[in-house]
Amino acid sequence: MTAKRTTILQRSDHVISRKRIDRDALQVMHRLNRSGYKAYLVGGSVRDLMLGRAPKDFDISTDAEPQQIRRLFRNCFLVGRRFRLAHIRFGRDKIIETSTFRRQPPANSSEDNLVQWDDNQFGTPEEDAFRRDFTINALFYDLHDFCVIDHVGGLADLRRKLVRTIGDPNIRFREDPVRMVRAVRFAGRLGFRLESRTRRAIIRHADEILLASPARLLEEIYKLFAMSAAEASFRLLWQLGLMDVLMPELVTYIRATGGRKSPLWSTLAALDSGSFWEGRLHPAFLLATLLQGPMIAVGETVDTIHDVNQTCAAWLEPLAFRFRMPKGTRYRVLRLVENQIRFEHLYRGHRTGRRLKAIERIVGHGSFPESLALLRVRVAAALVDPELVAFWENMGEQYASNPNDIVAEGTGDGSAVMPRRRRRRRRKRTHET
Ligand code: ATP
Ligand code: MG
Repeated sequence: MTAKRTTILQRSDHVISRKRIDRDALQVMHRLNRSGYKAYLVGGSVRDLMLGRAPKDFDISTDAEPQQIRRLFRNCFLVGRRFRLAHIRFGRDKIIETSTFRRQPPANSSEDNLVQWDDNQFGTPEEDAFRRDFTINALFYDLHDFCVIDHVGGLADLRRKLVRTIGDPNIRFREDPVRMVRAVRFAGRLGFRLESRTRRAIIRHADEILLASPARLLEEIYKLFAMSAAEASFRLLWQLGLMDVLMPELVTYIRATGGRKSPLWSTLAALDSGSFWEGRLHPAFLLATLLQGPMIAVGETVDTIHDVNQTCAAWLEPLAFRFRMPKGTRYRVLRLVENQIRFEHLYRGHRTGRRLKAIERIVGHGSFPESLALLRVRVAAALVDPELVAFWENMGEQYASNPNDIVAEGTGDGSAVMPRRRRRRRRKRTHET
């Protein structure tokens, strides 16, 4: 690939200050430099610092090879098969990812060559910039002289607020279809537009998205929820036709519930707007928020909680299989959604002993706090009555202070508590006859 002219921004011409760079990342770069290696801050951190945003993590690129990096840092582990890179650990959960400059496959590679290309071919800093995905993700920051180095036109795209692949988007998306979801992530999160060729290529190659590894796809889908950008990102995923391939079940729901005005969007906007949970939200919670609309809709068509379970599980099955969703995550999504249906039914039930038992079971279960958080999201999206949250918060508080003495007013509007064990009773009857 031919290089565009390299642009170098001197310290006085950009906003990046060392104070905003993680201390440990600075230390890694200093040590690499002192040992005679080049080392730059790269990727998303330079992009975010240039935009005045707080980076999620700090990645470093160097000409030291993985084994050489390992020799320099005691707290270093080499990871990855396709991309062999160094994780330098600090404290309990900080990792400074340090990779060796890489080359990317030549532009005239055939399809087979693209698949077989060995990603561990080391290269120059410039070659490393060109193998990255988007121009805005390929800026380097040099700690030596505090310059920002741009080999690919990323600075201009940052100014124009454009997500543009480096090189021909048709080739770059074929090399790695996950990049299509990544483009959506950056455009959604940063409020950038997709450059027109990049956009057209996504629409053209959307069908190929499932050629990517399911595990990587699922990870990228989780990242669409980050930084309060779920609504913008999933809207874009839908508009570009990627959702038709990734989650056709959800597209059917969006179409049936108003398209651009579907309640899905207000649900994601609610998730973006508030903190419903302390700490990091579990991926199952994110999926349950995304999928609760259609799942509750199918769950509400049946009469017993057992049938709700079966119907919701059957709905989720193809989607879970498509992404090889871990079993634990799948169960957790199901439980969170089923609890929404239980919440509604038990709230409306008459004051009976059976209802009270069911309420105790639900509040006493480990899934209750997270289910309540999902209920709060739904209330914030105006999908359900706020009274419902008040009722369940009250049940939770009562259970916490005295699990054996809950008082639950019934609204007594005539809807019964869901029978739980119809199937079992039926089977018993068959035995008796
Ligand atoms: P975030 O802020 O969400 O972490 P990021 O830009 O740092 O965004 P990462 O997934 O952490 O994204 O990747 C770090 C960098 O590695 C990217 O900025 C990009 O330069 C490069 N990169 C990551 N994935 C790919 C890919 N599939 N193809 C090419 N380059 C990639
Ligand atoms: Mg990153």
